[in-house]
Amino acid sequence: MKTLGYAAQNPGTPLAPFQFQRRAVGANDVQIDILFCGVCHSDLHTARNEWNNTLYPSVPGHEIVGKVRAVGSNVSAFKVGDIAGVGCMVDSCQSCPSCAEGLEQYCESGFTGTYNGPVFGGENTFGGYSDNVVVDQKFVLRISHTGNFAAVAPLLCAGITTYSPLRQWNVQPGHKVGVVGLGGLGHMGVKIAAAMGAHVVLFTTSPNKREDALRLGAAEVVVSKNPDEMAAHANSFDFILNTVAAPHNLDAFLGLLKRDATMTLVGAPDSPHPSPEVFSLIFKRRRLAGSLIGGIAETQEMLDFCAAHGIVSDIEMIPIQGINQAYERMLKSDVKYRFVIDMASLKDDASAA
Ligand code: NAP
Ligand code: ZN
Repeated sequence: MKTLGYAAQNPGTPLAPFQFQRRAVGANDVQIDILFCGVCHSDLHTARNEWNNTLYPSVPGHEIVGKVRAVGSNVSAFKVGDIAGVGCMVDSCQSCPSCAEGLEQYCESGFTGTYNGPVFGGENTFGGYSDNVVVDQKFVLRISHTGNFAAVAPLLCAGITTYSPLRQWNVQPGHKVGVVGLGGLGHMGVKIAAAMGAHVVLFTTSPNKREDALRLGAAEVVVSKNPDEMAAHANSFDFILNTVAAPHNLDAFLGLLKRDATMTLVGAPDSPHPSPEVFSLIFKRRRLAGSLIGGIAETQEMLDFCAAHGIVSDIEMIPIQGINQAYERMLKSDVKYRFVIDMASLKDDASAA
């Protein structure tokens, strides 16, 4: 099926219009006309080959919301006209222990990413910076929100990537929870942790984000470059979620954890963080962990949780022709707080072609 999208052809040139084929709709498939696609920092890392694993051409985009155009004969959970979502995965082996537990993101054969193909190599896949997508029904999400679908799109990655660790590390009402970085992931982390009843402290390198962080649900804001502000929180956190997309000094945050508490990294910089100071870990039995998106069942749980709590992303809508400028602004931490592509703008390229 002829599809129009935007692709990076190599690490150095801007994304530009690109035509490709989607597979025909199979018995278990759902075909979705894409209405909106969020812009994740992982899209930029991939388009520019910052993780050294990009298959070109690369069509990024894994925060997809759209309208169902067609369904295969075995599909009963979705019908034509439904609003549906697709996140970071479109397939997994479905038989390993991780898949059996609903943790497809940790599939032991490697899940198939919505773009950039199987994580451990293989054929390329093309993501949501395009007019439609064809996905196995097991990887299609129901959208419980009744409107504002552009602002729902970022939940499909930024939402689940922050919700999953907050659940896994059992954040409870009254817990003191730190969120590091107020970008796409961070602002969802603040909203979701606050909705879980936590006392949220936002750490930022951008003092001008203070008011926004309070509005989004943080109880306190700390400018992480200010050692006195940091020291005031020593040994006090039950959990810290670190979303920063660049290498930085982790010790400054590890020292803020209580005994036995955990800091979980979800940011995935292109080069390593300096190794943490071991004494900070061993003298308080502190833990440093990581977390990858979330499974399909948990993604549905997150979408339903966000709908019940009235949570969506704070977005700046852009036409797809603005994607390259959006990437430059993302690199300057200048996004409030997620760019979302209005896919109707692709028509301008279709008519120009
Ligand atoms: P983003 O919107 O660019 O936000 C990142 C935030 O980190 C910035 O807004 C900024 O917040 C802070 N920051 C940036 N550079 C910094 C630096 N040099 N030092 C300190 N803080 C800095 O990116 P995103 O889309 O939220 O993604 C964040 C990271 O998570 C990316 O690496 C992405 O690839 C990764 N990711 C991981 C998963 C997963 O499953 N683990 C899923 C999705 C994305 P302040 O201005 O507030 O300091
Ligand atoms: Zn993402």
